[in-house]
Amino acid sequence: MKKLENGSVHLELDEVMPMAVDSLKRAGCDDENAQAVASCIYEAERHGAHSHGLFRMPGYLASLKSGKVNGKASPKISTSKPSVLSVDSDGGYAPLAHKKLAKPLADMAKAQGVGVAALTNTFHFAALWQETEMLANEGVVGLACTAFKPALPPAGGSKPLYGTNPVAFSWPREDKEPLTFDQASAVMARGEVMIAAREGHTLPEGVGIDENGNPTTDPNEILKGALLPYGGYKGASIAMMVELLAASLIGEQLSFEAAAQDNNDGGPPRGGEFILALDPTNGLASAEGLFAKMLEQEGTRLPGDGRRAKRSKVLAEGVQIPVDLYEKIAS
Ligand code: NDP
Repeated sequence: MKKLENGSVHLELDEVMPMAVDSLKRAGCDDENAQAVASCIYEAERHGAHSHGLFRMPGYLASLKSGKVNGKASPKISTSKPSVLSVDSDGGYAPLAHKKLAKPLADMAKAQGVGVAALTNTFHFAALWQETEMLANEGVVGLACTAFKPALPPAGGSKPLYGTNPVAFSWPREDKEPLTFDQASAVMARGEVMIAAREGHTLPEGVGIDENGNPTTDPNEILKGALLPYGGYKGASIAMMVELLAASLIGEQLSFEAAAQDNNDGGPPRGGEFILALDPTNGLASAEGLFAKMLEQEGTRLPGDGRRAKRSKVLAEGVQIPVDLYEKIAS
């Protein structure tokens, strides 16, 4: 750790994991839960996805300290229907449940062609590519979505109703890392808007509206008002679908219900996640043909490769976080 003149703290990448584990344990996690959450934070930092890295630590720690999240959770997995795994996260953070469900869900998909995990009683504060890539690394296609607190209006409306509701998708590839896209239903993830507010810069037009429904580029006004879905009514329908799959279908809270129940301690609300796994065996060769055709066009790249391209830079240069964030984590 080194304090820099610009008011930031510099960390080597290999300092991230032990620092996160230590803080999470001191806030009430047992080792297994701390390792799972810290590994998620480390992977986000390693891939340059700072909005889901150490930036999230104060929220993780606050919800442990307030008692909202169970730091000693022991996820329970049962087969409720032949192709459905019911996963009760025991009131803990989602990463430990992901680690435990990936293999049985992949095995279910390989045996039957399809498997669904209905993850409930969980607190999701991370980027979803981590769980869909766990499935792809087990050799199956993974699709995951989760709801959050209201941030997006329904099509035609101006008041938040849907969460930023991300959808992630990973396709496994032989001898290569999976193809993965992972995107919020909003034009921009809320974490990015929070970072812009913290750093004091404006955002492009079209990202959000203020409390009165007027367009604004001020991230603080957007945080009080609403983010906008990407693609207008099309993105709004995706966000609505996520509410239906990750809440209604699996018996968890919708975003507005989660917000009404949440103690607003800075961490995530309780919710659910819908995770689908599919056996890709018959489609692997065809998919490689598609990827090759895509890459024939100048200016293209595969989704997921942009994030991976950041790894060598982060490894060489380490991570910079604001000093107040470092002090919050350390204290
Ligand atoms: P981005 O808009 O940054 O990226 C969306 C996707 O598009 C990525 O998979 C990205 O791949 C891909 N992509 C970007 N540019 C290109 C390109 N030129 N060619 C091909 N693919 C491209 O992500 P968002 O801001 O929408 O989401 C950020 C994160 O926030 C997600 O990880 C999401 O899971 C998380 N989130 C979590 C929530 C929660 O409740 N836990 C709530 C909301 C969001 P690449 O990575 O390679 O650039």
